[in-house]
Amino acid sequence: MECSINANKEGCICTYEPCERKGKCCDCIRYHKNLGELPGCLFPPEVERTYDRSFAKFVEVFGSGKQRGPGDALR
Ligand code: SF4
Repeated sequence: MECSINANKEGCICTYEPCERKGKCCDCIRYHKNLGELPGCLFPPEVERTYDRSFAKFVEVFGSGKQRGPGDALR
């Protein structure tokens, strides 16, 4: 299976520039996992822009069940 790096880059909502992992989703996940974080694309845009990618922030945003699911942030 070939990496879809160009398609991934086009769909990436991460606002942090520059990042050499943009479009390389496996590297992005590994990097943030090692920091105890999640990739920016799992957060709503207004939270992504804060660069707080912690699990705690994710739970704060989605824990109540009122916020849309993380998949909605990708659309
Ligand atoms: S979420 Fe992190 S690793 Fe992924 S593209 Fe954005 S800054 Fe880079």
